[in-house]
Amino acid sequence: MKPSLPSAPALASFKWDDPFLIEADLTEDARMIRDAAHAYAQDELLSCVTKAFANEGTDPEIFREMGETGLLGTTIPDILEEFGGIGFSYVSYGLVAHEIERVDSGYRLMMSVQSSLVMCPIYAFGTEERYQKYLPKLASDTFIGCFRLTEPDAGSDPAGMTTVVQKTDGRYVLNGSKMWVSTSAVADALVVWAKSEACWHAARQYGLDQRQFDRPLAQTQLFQLKLANMQTEITLGLYAALRVGRLMDEARTAPKMVSLIKHNNCGKALDIARHTRDRHRGNGISQEFHEIHNMVNLETVNTYQGTHDVHALILGRAQTGLQAFV
Ligand SMILES: Cc1cc2nc3c(=O)[nH]c(=O)nc-3n(C[C@H](O)[C@H](O)[C@H](O)COP(=O)(O)OP(=O)(O)OC[C@H]3O[C@@H](n4cnc5c(N)ncnc54)[C@H](O)[C@@H]3O)c2cc1C
Repeated sequence: MKPSLPSAPALASFKWDDPFLIEADLTEDARMIRDAAHAYAQDELLSCVTKAFANEGTDPEIFREMGETGLLGTTIPDILEEFGGIGFSYVSYGLVAHEIERVDSGYRLMMSVQSSLVMCPIYAFGTEERYQKYLPKLASDTFIGCFRLTEPDAGSDPAGMTTVVQKTDGRYVLNGSKMWVSTSAVADALVVWAKSEACWHAARQYGLDQRQFDRPLAQTQLFQLKLANMQTEITLGLYAALRVGRLMDEARTAPKMVSLIKHNNCGKALDIARHTRDRHRGNGISQEFHEIHNMVNLETVNTYQGTHDVHALILGRAQTGLQAFV
């Protein structure tokens, strides 16, 4: 007798902007933190960033606002609750970064530098005295920090740095040169390394709003293919980031996992920003539509800390056991 088929799985409706239902997978706390970051980014940050980009300036006030909103130092578990920071998970940190990045990659970088590259080393390696002196101010709104690692001849290869530090007569003397240091012009606290760190929705909306040859742009096959590619890459990238964030919260991350998502997500984000800029046609280079601004930011993200190519070399070495850096 012919075996009966198992019953078909129940089908749910498809959410175009959240295909894998990541939203439902977040905790209530993570959603609250994400919503607070979203409100700040859209209501406050967006207009400041538009002015700062037009004037080619950096507005230190934005830092103070982020501190007041509790968005700084969120990578330091629990401890910051004591200093006014929120003290929460890596997943929540990723969600906050995602919301700031939607508006401006540069200010997201500044937030990451302060939280991950300035506060974490002080937390991990600083004396009790430095910890008490700097962390409360860096977590709230008083101090801006910067991280000085890169040198003119040592970018993706920090081991090639030549800056040296010497302790003499109870003080430290630094000799060397650094460059490309975000926020260094306005920083109050400097971590110096020496020897002894949304375009898709816009494209969709533009395609729905703009008409060409008597129909919406979004009603063309080419446009829909590009949208489908963006939706797919963003969904896979977000899911990978959520997975690694959860593993970090469980202390089960290997650094190469981070290389994998940085390599993938930074490269794909740049492709998407370039396509979105192109989909906006001539308007894509107008400041009013933000697309050129996002694209220039992501060109930068792809290079700093050798993000795309150098992480590829790290992954290549992990697979072959052969290092191809030099
Ligand atoms: C906006 C911005 C902000 C920054 N902020 C800071 C900061 O706050 N603090 C700080 O210390 N630094 C900062 N940097 C510096 C940043 O970390 C460096 O730009 C980064 O490390 C890359 O170094 P590099 O620019 O010297 O490029 P390189 O290291 O020369 O790399 C450039 C490209 O060359 C290729 N390449 C390099 N090495 C290899 C190799 N072995 N094999 C094959 N290809 C290779 C890759 O395509 C790579 O993407 C910032 C940079 C920018 C642009």
